[in-house]
Amino acid sequence: MTEPTTSAGRAGTHRSAAATATQSASDDQPAITFDRVGVRYGRGKNTTDALVDFSLRVTRGETIALLGPSGSGKTTALKVLAGFVRPTSGRVRLSGRDITDLPPAKRGIGVVVQSYALFPHMRVRDNVAYGLKARRMRKGDIATRVAEALSMVSMSDYADRLPRELSGGQQQRVAIARALAIRPDVLLLDEPLAALDAQLRQSMITELQGLRDALPDTTMLYVTHDQAEALALADRVAVMRDARLVDIDTAPALWSRPPTGFTAAFLGGANLIPVTIGRVSGRTALVSAGERMLTVLAPEPRTRWAPGAAALVCVRPHDVVVTDLGATGSTRAVVRSAVWRGPVTRLSLAIDGLPDQLLEADVPGRSDHRVDAVVGVRLPENAGVLVDAGDTSGATGSPT
Ligand code: ADP
Ligand code: MG
Repeated sequence: MTEPTTSAGRAGTHRSAAATATQSASDDQPAITFDRVGVRYGRGKNTTDALVDFSLRVTRGETIALLGPSGSGKTTALKVLAGFVRPTSGRVRLSGRDITDLPPAKRGIGVVVQSYALFPHMRVRDNVAYGLKARRMRKGDIATRVAEALSMVSMSDYADRLPRELSGGQQQRVAIARALAIRPDVLLLDEPLAALDAQLRQSMITELQGLRDALPDTTMLYVTHDQAEALALADRVAVMRDARLVDIDTAPALWSRPPTGFTAAFLGGANLIPVTIGRVSGRTALVSAGERMLTVLAPEPRTRWAPGAAALVCVRPHDVVVTDLGATGSTRAVVRSAVWRGPVTRLSLAIDGLPDQLLEADVPGRSDHRVDAVVGVRLPENAGVLVDAGDTSGATGSPT
């Protein structure tokens, strides 16, 4: 997917508006622009295309999650912006200013990586002060900035410790404080929670939400392979696959109307049922899945859904209704597996008339369905949403 690559139209409008507005040119520009960026690693036969025609614009203050499986090019995109990797083609801009050729230190970007990357022999205070000393800031000002940054991540009491005297979560907070100390306009985070255990990750998500809200003018690019982090933190989620940006939208839009099967599956727990489109009317479509007819949502534009064409229907497991065998409107199914997950039990069901597919269904609580039990299954009207037929391979690696 390629976003419009020039801002000629907007710039033109801006110029005519400039007479009446006192706004500076850069305020009108996206905080971050990737303009058809390509990155190819290696030479000769051993080359990898890590980014292909990657275009993205991020508004000032916005938080974008770059979400995708391992190897999809997320870190490369972040490194291009930070200046650690030179793009093979394309340009990157900050507030409209081309920074493609600028050294990393001159970009004023804060970067946080998965492995913390703290200096082991330096106390917390000096780690956080590092970027400020490099900028030759006055000592008194440095102390103020360090205190402010440590307080933002609730680490004020740990200023005199060495990194090895801190837990993983605390080290990551210090790394965030170090990135914040330079008061960056743009903060890049590369899987900052990946090294932490599940429970700590959850509380750190809450803290990062607080940080995001406390810094409304800071633009953030948050790289993750974890859909839960992306949904929790991002204003918009950019889904990456095989060096390309495949979909971008707000998290709720991607969740409820995934444009591609890949995104539906990668955001977690999607049944993708092959169907043939019948009649489309208004916001819904009548489709056939095997011998069953289903009424499903048909996202705009309606021209995507031609009668007779193949498509997928995305149904979330919690929308599948499991009933007794023979209940009105239900189809016979056999339980293939039942896994209790705490709040729900995830059933895998083999449906009569859909021989090649297992349907996943979440039933509340700890269900007493046994493997090989015969049940009824029903999809409520509009529980499914049409998705373009297409290749979804590689999307199942994400936690659901
Ligand atoms: P992600 O962060 O999504 O896991 P990366 O951006 O790290 O993906 O990598 C994208 C692709 O580029 C992968 O195939 C990876 O193996 C390759 N790659 C990354 N860094 C290098 C490098 N320095 N040299 C060669 N190939 C690389
Ligand atoms: Mg990475």
